[in-house]
Amino acid sequence: MNNNNADNPILAFWFRRDLRLDDNTGLLRALDAGKPVLPVFIFARNILDRLEDRDDARVSFLHDRIRSLDAELCKYGSGLLVAFGNPLESWKKWQKQFGFSAVYTNRDYEPYGTKRDREVSDWLGTQGVAFHSFKDQVIFEREEVVKPDGDPYSVYTPYSRRWRARLVEEPICPKSFPTKPNLYLFKDHELPSLESMGFVRSSISIPPAEVSKDLLRNYAGHRNFPAMAGTSRLGIHLRFGTLSIRRLALEAISASDSYLNELIWREFYQMILFHHPQVTSQAFKPAYDHIAWRSDPEAFQRWTAGTTGYPFVDAGMRELAATGFQHNRVRMVTASFLTKHLLVDWRLGEAWFARKLLDFELASNNGGWQWAAGCGCDAAPYFRIFNPTSQAQKFDPKEEYVRRWVPEYGTSAYPLPIVEHTFARERVLETFKHALST
Ligand code: FAD
Repeated sequence: MNNNNADNPILAFWFRRDLRLDDNTGLLRALDAGKPVLPVFIFARNILDRLEDRDDARVSFLHDRIRSLDAELCKYGSGLLVAFGNPLESWKKWQKQFGFSAVYTNRDYEPYGTKRDREVSDWLGTQGVAFHSFKDQVIFEREEVVKPDGDPYSVYTPYSRRWRARLVEEPICPKSFPTKPNLYLFKDHELPSLESMGFVRSSISIPPAEVSKDLLRNYAGHRNFPAMAGTSRLGIHLRFGTLSIRRLALEAISASDSYLNELIWREFYQMILFHHPQVTSQAFKPAYDHIAWRSDPEAFQRWTAGTTGYPFVDAGMRELAATGFQHNRVRMVTASFLTKHLLVDWRLGEAWFARKLLDFELASNNGGWQWAAGCGCDAAPYFRIFNPTSQAQKFDPKEEYVRRWVPEYGTSAYPLPIVEHTFARERVLETFKHALST
C-alpha cells in the first residue's frame, strides 16, 4: 500500500527522547510544514535485547508512555505507528508502505543515536526523502555554549556563566500543541505488548512529571539531605522527554537558581559527551587510564547488594535496587567508595548504575562517575576522598535515611566494614600517585 501521491504527500515525525505533544519542537515544525503528519515510534530491538533485567522499570515506563501518546493522538483521529525492530529496517518497510516526503525528528547527541540517525538519514536521502532534525531536549546544544575562541569548555563554572549569558540573548519560549493539528488520519494501529518484546511489568513506581513551587523554593537548603523529599526526581522525565526542558527551566528561573544550576550541569555533561565521545570507554584525563584497578568480584557484589558495612553506602545501594533512585549526595559517596575505598574501576560502577537508575542518562552518569573517580573533566582532585562516616554524620545526622534502608544497622546481623577507612585511603593515594607519575 502506498497512501502517498504527488497531490497528497505525508510527513513522518519520529518520536525518540521527546515523548510528549506539548512543546515538542520537531513535531511542531512538522505540523507547520503544511502536509499531514504521521507520528511514529520504534522500540529498538538492539537496545532492548541488551538490557539485563526482564522487569526493567524503564521499559515498563516507556511502554506505558507510548500507549498514552497513542491514545492522545487518537483523539485527533490519528495514532502512533509503532515498530519493534531495527530502526533502519523499520524505515525501509514504512517508506514502501507510506512513501513519506520528509521525516522530522529531534536531535539525539549520544554516540549511538548520532550513528543511527546518520544511517537512517543517508538511506532516506537515497530515496529522495529529506531528514530534518531539531534541538529539543536541551536549552543549548553542541556548539551553542563555547569559549570565545570556539573551543568547547571543560570546566563547569565558566560554561555555566556563558550558558546564562546566552539565555539573556535568547529567552525561552515554550509552545503548546495546536488545537487542530494537521495529523494523518490513521486507524489500524497496534502496539506490541511488553511480553511480545520479552519483558514483564516492573513493580517500581515512577515519580510524577511535575515539581511543586515549594520544593523549588526550598531546593537549595534541602537538596543535600537524602532523608528528605528535597529533590524533584524528574530525571526520568527529562531522559524520555515526558516533560519539556523549556517549561522546567522557566520554573527554575522563577523559583530556584540552585535548581537551574543542576539543569545546567545536565547540559554541561551532554556537551562534554558530544565533543568527547571517547569518554564512554576512557578517562577524560588520559593519565587516569594507568590506574591499576583491583579485580575483586566479591567486593563489587557486596557494594551492589549494600552489605559493605558502611551504612550510608549500603542505604544508597539498597535504595537504588528497591526504587531505581539514589539521591545525588549518596551517588557521590557510593561512587567514591567503589572507586577509592575498594579501588574498583569506575566503569563497573557506571554500568551498574546504567542498569538500575530510572533516570539513567549516558552523559550525566559517565560525568558523575568520572567526577567521583577523579578522572573527569571538572573532577574533584584524586586526593579528595569522601569519608563515608563523616558524610553520613553531616547529611544524615539523625540516621533517618540509614535506618530506612538498613534496618539491621546497629545489630549483630549487620556486617563489619569491608575495608578499614585509613588503610583504604592510603592504598588509593599510593595507587593513584603511582599511576599519575608514570
Ligand atoms: P534534582 O536535584 O531534582 O535535579 C533536577 C535535574 O537536574 C535532574 O533530574 C537532572 O536532570 C539534573 N541534574 C541534577 N544534578 C545533576 C548533576 N550532578 N549532573 C547532571 N545533571 C544533574 N543524573 C542523571 O540524570 N542520570 C544519571 O544517570 C546520573 N548518574 C549519576 C551518577 C553519579 C555517580 C553521580 C554522582 C551523579 C549522577 N547523576 C545522574 C546526577 C544526579 O545525581 C541526578 O541527576 C539526580 O540525583 C537526579 O535526581 P533528581 O531528579 O531528584 O534531581
